[in-house]
Formats: sequence, C-alpha cells, structure tokens
Amino acid sequence: MKLRDTKQLLNDLNLAPNKNLGQNFLINEEIAESITSLVKNQDYVIEIGPGLGALTKKLAQNNKKVLAIEIDRGFAEYLKKEAEKVNNITILHSDFLKYPLNKIKENINIVSNLPYNITTPIIEKVLLESNKLDKFVFMTQKDFIDRLLSKPGSKEYGPISVLISSLGNLEIFKVINKENFYPQPKISSCVSVFVCKKAVSQNDRKAFYEFVKLLFKERRKTILNNLSAITKDKKEAERKLSIVKILPSRRPETLNIDEIQLLFDIMLNKTRKK
Ligand code: SAM
Repeated sequence: MKLRDTKQLLNDLNLAPNKNLGQNFLINEEIAESITSLVKNQDYVIEIGPGLGALTKKLAQNNKKVLAIEIDRGFAEYLKKEAEKVNNITILHSDFLKYPLNKIKENINIVSNLPYNITTPIIEKVLLESNKLDKFVFMTQKDFIDRLLSKPGSKEYGPISVLISSLGNLEIFKVINKENFYPQPKISSCVSVFVCKKAVSQNDRKAFYEFVKLLFKERRKTILNNLSAITKDKKEAERKLSIVKILPSRRPETLNIDEIQLLFDIMLNKTRKK
C-alpha cells in the first residue's frame, strides 16, 4: 500500500499509528513483495504484528496457512474482516510475547516487520521457544542487526549474538530506507534472514542462553571471575577452564562460539577429562 492509501485507510478506520507499539507501516509494495518472496510454499507461516496487512495477503498467496498475531485491537478487527475474503489467514488479537509457540507441531516460518521497541524479547522468544522453526525473516532497525551479527572481540558481541550463531545462520537480505515507512522512523531498517540449522531441545536452548548471559554478566572481568560466580568455587572454575584449554585471564567477549559451547558442555559434565 502506498503512503496515500495508508493514510486514507487509517483515516477510514479512525486509527492512528501508535508509537508505543512500534507502528511504522511499510508503504512500498515492491519491498513487501521481495520480503514475502523469501517464504514460499510453506505449510505454516506466522506473521508477528501484521498491522494493516502489508505482508499478510502476499504471505497467504504464497503459502498454505498464515497465522497473524496482532496486539492492536483496531488493526486486528480490520484484518479479521479482510481475512474472511480468503480461506487461509487466521488473525489472532493477542500479544505475541504471550503466544505458546512451543505448542505448534508443524514446522514454522516466521515473518515480521518487528515493532522496534520489543525487538530483543521477540527474537529471544522465537529462538528459545520454537523447536519447529525453519526460517525467521525479520525487519529491524539497522543498528540492531550489527549487534546480532557481531563477532568475538567486538563491543556489541554478547549473549544474543552467541545464541544466534549457536542455532543457525543469520544474513542481511536488504537495507530499507526509512522513507519506505509511515510514520518515518529515525533510522533505516534491515531485512534479515535467520535459518535454523540445529535441532536443540527447548530446555537445552534456555539453559545454554542462561549460561551465556551469566558468562557475559561482568564483561570487564576475566572469564575465571565470571565462571567462578557460576560454579561458586574458583578452583572448580579453574579446573573446567583448563580442561577446555581456555586461558583464565581472557575476557568473556573474546570467546568464540565453539569455546563457549565447550565450556557449557563441561559445565553439564558432557565432556570428560582426558
Ligand atoms: N506488518 C506491518 C507492516 O509491515 O506495515 C506493521 C509493522 S509495525 C513495525 C509492527 C506491528 O506490530 C504493529 O502493527 C503493532 O501493533 C504490532 N505489535 C506491537 N507489539 C506487538 C506484540 N507484542 N504482539 C503482536 N503484535 C505487536
């Protein structure tokens, strides 16, 4: 939908964009087309925050079933009426953060122009709760993606970037200028694609993420300090570090994903001392 049509529709529905809900509507059909072309011929697609439906109908044309979860009652009601015209869209008026993603039995693809104010909790939920995730296509503010893609040694590198690279592969698909949204956000956005590579149980994902968060809790301290706080025993922490051959004086953000995974395994006693 173009800018003029978007404004007209909002006017007809007597609705206004709500900043607190991160409502910046995509107003470029070609971009909507290229985003939705990333998810085709799937049995089950979830859209988070369909808004005025810029992506929803296109997703429904390309896939078997679409579940779109929208927190805003006004938009959800409008979309429910629109969805009656087709037979494969379900609109749920709900908070995605409360949705029981782990109950879904089919493989799922998730697509979203994410509400920027809750980007991190949504990404955490998708990665931690859905064992059935194949692909997650999402649009976020551009600076955020640098954090997700950051590498060991950089300032941004932290638990969420570790979680992402432990489960799959994340790539930037396209940068989208801010002029393509109404209202216009302060900075441009980025469409990224996460492909899930590893089937890790929900409990293991959560335990791993909790461990990584503790490991990064005091970034200025050494890995020995942080690990001692977890083991509650410095000698034990030293022993574990020596088994996986990680220097105790290193800072947590210098550890690569394999080293963190090894350390996590040794904490669970999965690795035996040779
Ligand atoms: N998909 C539309 C588009 O591309 O034009 C709207 C995207 S807008 C950036 C984000 C949407 O997410 C809004 O419609 C907003 O109401 C919705 N939203 C915000 N928080 C939500 C939540 N917790 N659960 C579900 N939807 C939410």
